[in-house]
Amino acid sequence: MPLYEYKCPHCGIFEQQHPMASVPKTVVCTQCSSKARKLISAIGLSQINSTRAKLIDSTNASAHEPQVVTSKPGTVKPARVTHNPLHTKLPRP
Ligand SMILES: [Zn+2]
Repeated sequence: MPLYEYKCPHCGIFEQQHPMASVPKTVVCTQCSSKARKLISAIGLSQINSTRAKLIDSTNASAHEPQVVTSKPGTVKPARVTHNPLHTKLPRP
């Protein structure tokens, strides 16, 4: 039987085995007896390349626990702008 992930609002993520024909969408948490919802998780990761696997992992992680940006990403230096009309004849990079 395959493992399915469930998320309890109090205890976090845990796994349970269920037959594929009868997978419940919610189960009772094994620790606090709260209602835990089934998570959608990626399957068949061995058949895809690592870049795609990283994208799927980051998408799954951000779906359930969005990351907060704490700093600005690397700043790009703006292109120098000149207003001298003679510079228009110079070759462009
Ligand atoms: Zn719980």
